Amino acid sequence: MDNFIIEVSEQDVKRERDKSRELRRSRWWQNRLALGRCHWCGGAFPPDELTMDHIIPLARGGKGSRNNVVPACKECNSRKKYLLPMEWDDYVRQFEKQEQ
Ligand SMILES: [Zn+2]
Repeated sequence: MDNFIIEVSEQDVKRERDKSRELRRSRWWQNRLALGRCHWCGGAFPPDELTMDHIIPLARGGKGSRNNVVPACKECNSRKKYLLPMEWDDYVRQFEKQEQ
């Protein structure tokens, strides 16, 4: 048994995914997209190139709620999927350095 793995049932994931879908249709989300900025790299993108990203992935117990979703460009979104959590942290940190 591995205590570090959060148990998330398929039902939980499905419920949160449904909530995300609702959120994606909301005016609140449309307004966020209209700002045209990727949460992770800070780059400017047309709204139709931004996707909804979950800060904590649903499969790891994240919620489909406003404080867990951010607009992300396609590159950040796909990197987040494929990088290990540690590699992802490094990736995000590189943009934080640029802002200093
Ligand atoms: Zn980005």
